[in-house]
Amino acid sequence: MNKIAVGVLGATGTVGQRFVQLLADHPWFQVVAVTGSDRTVGRPYGEGVNWLMPGRVPARAAALTVRPTTPNLDIPGSPPIVFSALPTGEAREWEPQFAAAGYAVVTNTSVFRMTPNVPLLIPEVNPDHTCLIPAQRAENNWPGFIVASPNCSTTSAILPLKIFQQAFGVEAVIITTLQAISGAGYPGVSSLDIYDNVVPHIGGEDEKLQNEPLKLLGDVRDGRMIMAGIAVSAQANRVPVIDGHLASVSVKLGRRVAAEEAIAALRAWRPPAVCARLPSTPAEVLIVRDEPDRPQPRRDRDAGDGLAWTVGKVRTCPVLDVRFVALTHNTLRGAASGALLNAELLAVQGYIGEGQVG
Ligand code: NAP
Repeated sequence: MNKIAVGVLGATGTVGQRFVQLLADHPWFQVVAVTGSDRTVGRPYGEGVNWLMPGRVPARAAALTVRPTTPNLDIPGSPPIVFSALPTGEAREWEPQFAAAGYAVVTNTSVFRMTPNVPLLIPEVNPDHTCLIPAQRAENNWPGFIVASPNCSTTSAILPLKIFQQAFGVEAVIITTLQAISGAGYPGVSSLDIYDNVVPHIGGEDEKLQNEPLKLLGDVRDGRMIMAGIAVSAQANRVPVIDGHLASVSVKLGRRVAAEEAIAALRAWRPPAVCARLPSTPAEVLIVRDEPDRPQPRRDRDAGDGLAWTVGKVRTCPVLDVRFVALTHNTLRGAASGALLNAELLAVQGYIGEGQVG
């Protein structure tokens, strides 16, 4: 097949670089345009970027000239596709303009995650929520659309919660996260703040952790988003780890469930059938560990090329019903790889790629 052309907005940042790295060898997509701030616009990407990824800047991307973030990127395709790794303010300004100009915007940013007609998407959790796209287009009078990935810390906790919701019902959740430094972008948290320390505050993160699961675990009925009726209390902490967000979670279920039954539900879960058609889906999406000291960021974050969830310490909770610890790689599953998987889903469902993907 001819590859589907895509652009990356904010291509020089932590997440933007991940996009460029992952797209270098992607079987379906190929980067034809990159954007940056005034600092890098007009320079070859390979010169402007402060490359933080292993290896060299992929040759094809290195030769692209960094362009301003405006919706005239000459990306072929109907709709033209952009991945967005813009800072929040730029995303608020530009993502709607791209959608209004006919682009499909697959974003990592937080601005439109909770907008009712914007799908907040993880293919393994709620692949059907893309059915919000027609309503979004109609309500905004946009030829294009926006699809969002959840916050990287929400991602860690959400798959086990989805499985428990399907198996037993979920009524209340308490989440405490231990989040990696790379989640703050580059250069991120100053070394004097994070070395030998834990910072119990990440701006806006507690609220994202409390709101986003309600949308991800909600339903779309008659083209409308219906939020899940679950009480969530969350506290986010920044810890001195480079990559990998860990979530320690206690759950009140719809009925009393023994830990063995909860573990059996996790082990019995299989991804939605559509995931088998997405080239980035790892062989094992959910890894359930029995050891009392797993998951750990350094040991488990790269499982499934950084796309797997690792879950452990699934035990009875003496206050609620069940507790567990879950880990995902924040800049891969929680950001660029997760958004790439969303784009693969959009291609399989026919929203992008003009039927190039069977
Ligand atoms: P970052 O490392 O600070 O990078 C932001 C990049 O945006 C900079 O490199 C800058 O480019 C570029 N930029 C600034 N103004 C721009 C403009 N007008 N047009 C194009 N590019 C512009 O941030 P990040 O961690 O990659 O985060 C990017 C977005 O993803 C944020 O909205 C963040 O909330 C979200 N996110 C991050 C993570 C994570 O784990 N880091 C996870 C999920 C979501 P120059 O280099 O050219 O100045």
